[in-house]
Parts: sequence; C-alpha cells; structure tokens
Amino acid sequence: MRPFGYVRAESPEAAAALVAGDLSAAFVGGGTEILNWLKDGLADPALLVDVGRLGLDAVEVSDGGLRLGSGARMSDVARDRHVRAEFPVLARALEAGASPQLRNMATLGGNLLQRTRCAYFREPSFPCNKRVPGTGCPARDGDHAMHAILGASDACVAVHPSDLAVALLALDARVEVLGVHGRREVAIEDFYPHAGDDPRRETALRHGELVVGIGVPSGPRARTSGYLKVRERGSFAFALVSVAAAVEVVEGVVRSARIALGGVAHRPWRVRAAEDALLGRPLADGSVADAAEAAVRDADPLPGNRYKVAIARGAVRRVLEEIGERG
Ligand SMILES: Cc1cc2nc3c(=O)[nH]c(=O)nc-3n(C[C@H](O)[C@H](O)[C@H](O)COP(=O)(O)OP(=O)(O)OC[C@H]3O[C@@H](n4cnc5c(N)ncnc54)[C@H](O)[C@@H]3O)c2cc1C
Repeated sequence: MRPFGYVRAESPEAAAALVAGDLSAAFVGGGTEILNWLKDGLADPALLVDVGRLGLDAVEVSDGGLRLGSGARMSDVARDRHVRAEFPVLARALEAGASPQLRNMATLGGNLLQRTRCAYFREPSFPCNKRVPGTGCPARDGDHAMHAILGASDACVAVHPSDLAVALLALDARVEVLGVHGRREVAIEDFYPHAGDDPRRETALRHGELVVGIGVPSGPRARTSGYLKVRERGSFAFALVSVAAAVEVVEGVVRSARIALGGVAHRPWRVRAAEDALLGRPLADGSVADAAEAAVRDADPLPGNRYKVAIARGAVRRVLEEIGERG
C-alpha cells in the first residue's frame, strides 16, 4: 500500500472542494470498502478526505417522506422504527447487507459507491476492461457464476453489489449531491449509467461531488414493500439475486408497482414489464406468475449462470406473495 494523506473535512463544502481540487483525492466514509481497494491495489489516492464525521447522519421524516443523511450508518437506518414501519424494503435490504460489524461502520453514501465484487476486477493480476480498458473480460470465458444475466455489455459482465441501491430504486429515491458548483439531485434510476463502451464509468458523479443525502418519497406503495435476497449462505454474502418490490393495492387491484432486481446486472435493474403485468389486477396467483415471468423475459445468461434466471423468477414470485399476504 502506498502512503497517503488523511484529513477530516470541516464541512461538506470543504470536503467537496478538497477532493474536486485534487484528482488523486477521494472521500472516505466508514472506510470498509475503500481501505480494501488500497490494500488490494485497486486505488491509490494520495489523500483521503473523511466525510464520516460531518454531521450528515440524520434520519429526518417530513410529510413528503424520508431524508437520509449520506453519513448515516447502515445499522442505524435499518433499526429506525419509522423506516421499519413505513419503508420495510429499505430496512430489510440494509439488514441483508454485509455483517453487523460492517453495518455499524458503513455509511449509506459509501454503500452506493461500492464497486463490483467480480473476482477478476478485484485481482489486479487479471486483465479487466473495468480496470484497464481494452484488456478484455476473463469472466466471459471464466468463472461467471455470480455475473450478469441482464443488460451486460461485451466489455463487462460484472454485477453491482449494493442491496441498498436496489431498495432505493423500488422507492423512487433521489440522491442529493454537492459539488463545488452547487447542489443537484439525481434520480436513483439515473445514478448508475447503462452499460456502455467504458465500464469504468459507474455512477453519475463527477470527481469531487459528494453525496450528502437521499430523499425517499413516502406513501402506500413504500409501506407495502418487501425485499428478498437469495445468497449462497444465510448471512454475510452478496446477492446471487435480490428483489425489491413496492406495490400499491386500491380496492383489490394493483394501482402502481415498482420491482427492481439486484445481483443480475451492472446496475440495480428495474423490470417495468413485471410491474406492468400487475397493473389493474388483483395481487394473486395469475398476476404474480405473469410478473415473475416478465421479470426474466430479457435475460441473456452466460453458460455458468443460467441458474440465476430460475432464481430471479422464483424470488419475484415469493416477494409479491409475501406482500400480498401482509395485505
Ligand atoms: C466482506 C464484505 C461484505 C459485504 N457485503 C455486502 C452486502 O451483502 N451487501 C451490500 O450492499 N454491501 C456489502 N458490502 C459492502 C459494504 O456495504 C460497503 O463496504 C459499505 O457500505 C461502504 O460504506 P463505507 O462508508 O465504509 O464506504 P467507504 O469505504 O468509506 O467508501 C466507499 C466509496 O464511496 C466513496 N464515498 C464514501 N462516502 C461518500 C459520499 N458521501 N459521497 C461520495 N462518495 C463517497 C468513497 O470515496 C469510496 O469510493 C460488504 C463489504 C464487505 C467488506
């Protein structure tokens, strides 16, 4: 590991200015992800700017919804009583991530900015288009059991690892960003770019832009939401497939729905066809089966990860059934 500087910023504005002014500087929140990159040779920032102690950790409730500070720890948000009652998909996704020790340290901002766990990306001795464009993607012909079944490009078949981001997609959340030129909001749906020629581009953030908060609208759909994560063991494992769903049922029929998949694509993956399959119908066997089928209609798996298609189909069905049983 190369020596690096460390500074505690005094304000969000100062933090953004420090990083924006130095191409080799990076923010650090809880440090549970970026310190691994330093140790593994995936990043070598000359300066780490600590944003974990800026007072950006509030969980605020308003008439319109919830505002989560980017410095809030995963565990604090997961056990917040209002979050648990009004945004169950959010609490469950956070609880399903990492381990208790990590959740006590990890911030929401850092969670959204974590990078793929693709073993070829994480090990610098392998070629990888995401690390060095044009070097190839050994996962395509190698071990790709954990990789994408939807929306992959020729250059990269890695998946995004965040559980939180999948839940936020089902909740129509907005990411609040602060840069040296002011503040802006980015819909979570636009926060992670679609696959392009350059898989190094992973978020809508420009260098030096700080995530300061996340806005989550409240309402009946958020209240009737759920999350299911399928993984290789019962805890402390990334998703093979996860599903976040939020469904609004009025007078016995679905008025609106959001369904997002995790562990299947380079970004949290919204499946509009599955949402459409529910609209105007009771949340019952027929519509749920149609939604589950629609969720995987565009799947294009690799030889070693076809199993994910069946898991995704089943997971969508189970989440919707569970939401239906809760009523
Ligand atoms: C063994 C292990 C298992 C894990 N399992 C899961 C899992 O199952 N599900 C899951 O979702 N996650 C999982 N994680 C990832 C974990 O949730 C992340 O490590 C954590 O959320 C990162 O948060 P942090 O605050 O520690 O980020 P940091 O390590 O501090 O930062 C990570 C990145 O975010 C940037 N950053 C931090 N804060 C901000 C900000 N406010 N604005 C802009 N950029 C910022 C940093 O510059 C860096 O690029 C796992 C991690 C480990 C190590």
